[in-house]
Amino acid sequence: MNRAEFDEWFRDHTACFRSLSDWFAKLGAQRATETVDAWFRVLRRLDLEDAKRATELLFDGTETEPKSRDKIPAAVAAISRRLASRRRQDEDRERWRSAGDETVACLACNDSGSRLCWHPATMQAAADGRFPGDPTTCDGAAYCVSVPCTCKAGDHFGRQLGYRFDPEKWCEIAGTRYDEDERWQLVEFVRQRVGVA
Ligand SMILES: [Zn+2]
Repeated sequence: MNRAEFDEWFRDHTACFRSLSDWFAKLGAQRATETVDAWFRVLRRLDLEDAKRATELLFDGTETEPKSRDKIPAAVAAISRRLASRRRQDEDRERWRSAGDETVACLACNDSGSRLCWHPATMQAAADGRFPGDPTTCDGAAYCVSVPCTCKAGDHFGRQLGYRFDPEKWCEIAGTRYDEDERWQLVEFVRQRVGVA
């Protein structure tokens, strides 16, 4: 979402959670601006509709409201990611059903059975703040790993390793590990994960 869309979500969210407005007012203008900017950085890669739906789910009690206000963007991000992931799976299934000449059963892995993700050691480095988005300083630590897909093609590989791809645990690399954007995706993924833990 862009900043205007974020502002729309923020208005929605604070309208649902009234006490938040008071909390922001007490922070003072500068701290409030900094905090809203930080929230935007966490949420900017999300879809506006997913974030709005996450707010609804928190408001109606389907999802648990975080105890600390600092954790709100991380909670919204985690719910939104889950919604987006579920939607992508539904879309994949739909495409598979509707495309008669489609020869790929799993569009997530193209039937390879594996998905490229950041290595746990690199995730840990990101969690420790040792993995910034600057490609000149972190090449040595930018490891990736193949993770068994959840589809049929990943069955054999998954049984061997004893784990499967899970969007909450693994940060998938859509491009290559040398893309700066992918590095920032990881930094944000880890920050959100730490936030909701
Ligand atoms: Zn697959």
